[in-house]
Formats: sequence, C-alpha cells, structure tokens
Amino acid sequence: MRRSSSTVITLLVALALVAAPFAAHALGATDGGEERARGIAAAPAPGARLLLAPQLRRPLLGALAAARERARRAALAEAAAERADLLVDKRRGLAARYRPRDLVAPRVAFLAGTPQEGRRLRRPAARALERLFAAARRDGVPLAGISGYRSFASQRALFAGYARERGVARAARVSARAGHSEHQTGLAIDVAGADGRCAATACFAGSRPARWLARHAPGHGFVVRYPRGAERVTGYAHEPWHLRYVGVALAREAAASGRTLDELLRGR
Ligand SMILES: [Zn+2]
Repeated sequence: MRRSSSTVITLLVALALVAAPFAAHALGATDGGEERARGIAAAPAPGARLLLAPQLRRPLLGALAAARERARRAALAEAAAERADLLVDKRRGLAARYRPRDLVAPRVAFLAGTPQEGRRLRRPAARALERLFAAARRDGVPLAGISGYRSFASQRALFAGYARERGVARAARVSARAGHSEHQTGLAIDVAGADGRCAATACFAGSRPARWLARHAPGHGFVVRYPRGAERVTGYAHEPWHLRYVGVALAREAAASGRTLDELLRGR
C-alpha cells in the first residue's frame, strides 16, 4: 500500500518536473516561475490554448506541486523517525500510522503477561538489549523485559485506562498520550529484575537492578530516560525502569553530563 502510493506520487512528481517547464515554455514563459507563467497566461502565445488551457494549467500545476511537497514531507518524517536520536516528548509526536519497519524479538526474558507486541524492539535496540542483559546476568543481576514496542492504538488504550483510574492530569505524569510515547518508536523498553519485584512501580527505585541499570545502561547505548528530579524538563515522574536506546555515544554523553535527552536534543 505504502509502496504503490509512493509510486503514484513519484510519477506525479516526475510529471510535474517534466510538464511544468514545458507547459510554461509552451505558454511563452522564459523560465518556470509560477508568477511569470501566470502573467504570460493572461496573454498566451498563439496556439498555447490548444496545448494546455489556462483554466486546466493552474489546478494541474497546483496539484503536482502539492503532491511533490507531500512526498518531500513524508520522506523527511520517515527518515527522522528512523534515527536513534529521535526526540519524542509531550510536544513532538509520531504519526498514528508510524510503525518501525525493523521490529524484531530480542532474545531476552520477559515477565509473564507481556503481550507479543511488547516483546519487540527495533533491531539495533534489540541487539544492544541482549548485550545489556547478558552483562547484567554476568554481574549476578538477572533482568527481564516488561514492555517494549507499543503501537499507537495500544498506547491510546493504555492512557485511557490510566485516565479513567486517576484522572487525566495524574495519568499524564506517568503515561504518554497516543503518538507521544517513546514505546511507539521501538527504541524504548521497561525493565525489571528477573523476579519481577516492584516492576514498573515506585519501589523499583533504589533496588539492585535499578542501581545496576543506572550505572551500566549507558555503556550499552541506553539512557534512563526519566531521571529523578527532572519532571519539569521531561514532563514525567521518575521512571528508573524506562530505558531508551540512543546509541553508545549519546548515552555516554547524557550520563557524563547529567543532562536529559530533552536538554541534549532540543535545538539540534
Ligand atoms: Zn516505559
């Protein structure tokens, strides 16, 4: 579906590129500027009306320019969403239809009850998570995944559930609205100790797995995305279990500087 619509757009854009200067030239314009072409159209060269009537030319060129702009924006949005340093927060979101193309199942343990969808991450994050969990096991701190990738629809249902329980304002401190969850990027995962104790709840803070993650996650390309005391910046309460893959260089930069991803990426 995506491929066929982009093929149509490509054809339209190609047609626009070929047709626009030709049409303008046929109308007597000396270059392809729309203003100039419009001016010439008021006094077309002899025979021009036969080639492309003015009342057809303007809507056709407009439609082709709009299609070209839509294709450009879609390509930019898709390329941006695939970057590991993508910033998703309460203001910057993802399209409802966005779903990463390289979701895979990392070979790590998950707590019972994690749905199949949540056992997926984008490929680079999945490989890094396997290395992180292996290192934790070697240090005697076995870990388990709780929730990885989450679709727009799943996030919408999750937020609605929190909002029903505790009201929208309190829900927004601990959960993202649909389109604004890092889980939709396929680069974020909630992690617990393998025993599941205090999984994704406040008592996880200060636990051995939480301390291990804070210290070792950056070396494997993950940041603890919502640190304590940074709610004013991140918009979220402390979540020592929510890891976000950004690559080793940026994760180390965040850890060394003590700055959040929001502070490091805004304005880049
Ligand atoms: Zn999370």
